[in-house]
Amino acid sequence: MISKRLRGSLDSSICIRDIFEEGKKMAAIYGSENIFNFTIGNPSVEPPAAVNEAMKEILDTEKPLALHGYPANVGHPEVRRHIANYLNGKYDCHYTEQGIIMTSGAAAAIVVIANSLLDNGDEVVTFAPYFWEYKSYVETLYGKLVPALCNMETLQPDPETFEAALSPKTRFVLINTPNNPTGAVYTEESIRMVTDILKKKQEEYGHPIYLVSDEPYRKLAYDIEVPYLTHYYENTIVVYSYSKALSIPGERIGYIAMESCVQDYEDLIAGMTASMRYLGYVNAPSLQQKMLLKCVDASVDISIYQETRDILYHALTEIGYTCIHPDGAFYLFLKALEEDDTKFCERAKEEKILMAPGTAFYGPGWVRVSYCVPADVAKRSVPAFKKLYDKYQK
Ligand code: PLP
Repeated sequence: MISKRLRGSLDSSICIRDIFEEGKKMAAIYGSENIFNFTIGNPSVEPPAAVNEAMKEILDTEKPLALHGYPANVGHPEVRRHIANYLNGKYDCHYTEQGIIMTSGAAAAIVVIANSLLDNGDEVVTFAPYFWEYKSYVETLYGKLVPALCNMETLQPDPETFEAALSPKTRFVLINTPNNPTGAVYTEESIRMVTDILKKKQEEYGHPIYLVSDEPYRKLAYDIEVPYLTHYYENTIVVYSYSKALSIPGERIGYIAMESCVQDYEDLIAGMTASMRYLGYVNAPSLQQKMLLKCVDASVDISIYQETRDILYHALTEIGYTCIHPDGAFYLFLKALEEDDTKFCERAKEEKILMAPGTAFYGPGWVRVSYCVPADVAKRSVPAFKKLYDKYQK
């Protein structure tokens, strides 16, 4: 008896978790060493030791009632202050405690923002391919997600599709760099193009268009700078998550950050504070918030992901596959060897390779390879990728 609205979206979704679970069943039959499961984005590098140490110390030293009680909906003041100071030092920004709202990861942050900004029928533009959950985050709240397809030669935002996607109904643009599913880091040139168009459109429409920067992979960038968007556009709202940076997605911790120059700043904070309650998040986990007092800038050892990225990228391109060099996150976007990416994924399963079809990310004709797997799994998968490639040459 679930709602018709939800039933519709369940029926149409390609469930990547199901493919992942199928991989686990295949592992039980053929042996886990013979299955190459590149489906989901669950971190594979251990959290930094500092994370566990901080949690233990907090549990040993803080008064339990205060630690485990309800904090303010927006988070502990000292944590918000600490994050504001950290961001100001690192990115030369002007955050204050008030502009930091602690959330249960990036997912909750985006839903809270959508709930604060969208009325029925309002639109959110995002660059495709995009993280498939964006559609549910926006459309569960009666908004409409409008994709602007990237240039598929470069996987960078495209000015023509972007401008065409914007309309007077656009309330915010959701941007994600480093990107899931493509692994692309949007260049400074792309960011300037996007923000120049937004400035022009804000003028034309006579109302703000917020730029919501979803950044769970900011720390996972390999030898490349990821532009900090507040420097390019005043109406930027940053969404950050520690799920990938610290390998703790099960702990649910992140934040929304806004500088006071953001239009309707006070109203937005009031709306987001209420949304935390109305949507049932209430507040971000208290222990995890406090952990950040000691780990705000910590990161997993990203050289481990980088090594796996290098192994796969070099091997796959040498075999003859097309993929654009991924500079961040732990995803590689690969061109399918036939038009139907779902059929291509099915055929890959014959070689015991499991990948996510690009159609799930509004990137048909491509597939996502999640390389958050041990480097030896990546190495051992290469002959299977070669066999798959050769099958298509006949
Ligand atoms: N945004 C993107 C692009 C993601 O890839 C993910 C998770 O994979 C999320 C948001 C949600 O992350 P969180 O665990 O912080 O809610």
